[in-house]
Amino acid sequence: MESIKCSNCLSGWELLPDEEFCGWCGASASGFSIRIISDNLFIYADELNNSDEPIYFSFEVINTGIKPVSIDKPRVKWEP
Ligand SMILES: [Zn+2]
Repeated sequence: MESIKCSNCLSGWELLPDEEFCGWCGASASGFSIRIISDNLFIYADELNNSDEPIYFSFEVINTGIKPVSIDKPRVKWEP
């Protein structure tokens, strides 16, 4: 795997494959956050416990790291 340049600070710092942070600005090499973007998504916990009906919603995955992220077959699990 080749080194990649930090896209956070654009300093030209090259991140080696085994490095987890940019040595210039400290940005994390890998990471992501998830944001639910469905409107009016309001679910009572007891509705989840008493129903096998699927719940549909949309979410956005934001790459917060320097390295590219790919996600395959995401799954959401409810744990009361
Ligand atoms: Zn940087």
